[in-house]
Amino acid sequence: MTTQIPLPEYRWPTLEKGWVWLCGAGPGDPGLLTMHAVNALRQADVVIYDALVQEQILSWAPQADHIYAGKRGGKPSAKQRDISLRLVDLAREGRRVLRLKGGDPFVFGRGGEEAQTLVQHGIPIRIIPGISAGIGGLAYAGIPVTHRDVNQSVTFVTGHDQSGNTPSSLDWRSISKGSQVLVIYMGMKHIAQIAGQLIDAGRNINEPVAVVTTATTQQQQVLETTLGDVVEDIRTAKLEPPAIICVGQSVLMRQVLDWQGMAAGDAPRNLDPLGRGRPAETG
Ligand code: SAH
Repeated sequence: MTTQIPLPEYRWPTLEKGWVWLCGAGPGDPGLLTMHAVNALRQADVVIYDALVQEQILSWAPQADHIYAGKRGGKPSAKQRDISLRLVDLAREGRRVLRLKGGDPFVFGRGGEEAQTLVQHGIPIRIIPGISAGIGGLAYAGIPVTHRDVNQSVTFVTGHDQSGNTPSSLDWRSISKGSQVLVIYMGMKHIAQIAGQLIDAGRNINEPVAVVTTATTQQQQVLETTLGDVVEDIRTAKLEPPAIICVGQSVLMRQVLDWQGMAAGDAPRNLDPLGRGRPAETG
C-alpha cells in the first residue's frame, strides 16, 4: 500500500459519481504523470486502463477496481466501441470512472472517439492531457523534437490506419517535403514500407533515424540508424513495439544531449553534430 502524500494546496477538482475522466498516463515513467492525473487516481472507484500504462501507476489507486482494456496491433474498432460503451455503463452505475490512456489521450489514442461516445450518451467528462510519447519519449532519448538549428515544424504521423495497414490516405510525398522532422507512432509493423516511401519521395537514405522503444521505462532502448538501414537494424537489434521512430537531423543532437547515465564530472561534450557553430556560439 502506498502512503498518500497530500497534494499541495490547490483547487483540485472532485471526481464525482457518474463522471468519466479521460486521462493521459504519459509514456511510461510514473513520474511523468500530471498532478491532475494523481488527483484522479486518488478518487476513482474504477480505473480502466490500456496496455501501455505501467503497473506502478495503477498501484497509486489501491482503492479502485482495475479493468484492463488493452488491445494491441490495431485490431478493428468493434472492440473500441465495447470500451466506450463500457465507460458509459460504468458511469451510469454511478461510479467515479478514470479512463487512463498511455501518453496523451487525444494523440493517436482514440481518446477523441471515447470522449465523443460519452458525450453523445450524456455522460459528463473531463480531459486530462498527458505527455505524449512522441515528445516525452524522444526527450528521454536526448532528442529535442524541435531545435532552432534543425526544424521549424514537426509532423506527427501514424504508421497504421484503422484496418492496421499503412494509412493509404497519407500523402507521403507531401509529408516528406513538408517537415524536416517526422515523428512516427505505431510505425514498426510497416517500417519497410514507410522508409521506402520516404526515400521515394526524396528523403536521403543517410538521413538520421532514431527508434526508441518502451521510452521512459527502465526497458527503454534507443537505436540510432539511417533511413536506408532502419529496417535491417531493427531486425538485428530485435526491437519490438511500442516504439517512436524519429526521422530527421534532430536525432544527431543525441550525441550531445543523451542525458541518461550522465554523471557530475563527466568531460564536457563540446560537440557540434549539426555543424552550425553551436555551442561555441551563443544566442
Ligand atoms: N496516446 C499515446 C499514443 C497511443 S498510440 C501518446 O500520446 O503517446 C500507441 C503508440 O504510441 C505506440 O505504438 C508507439 O508508437 C507510441 N508509444 C506509446 N508509448 C510509448 C513508449 N513508452 N515508447 C515508445 N513508443 C510509445
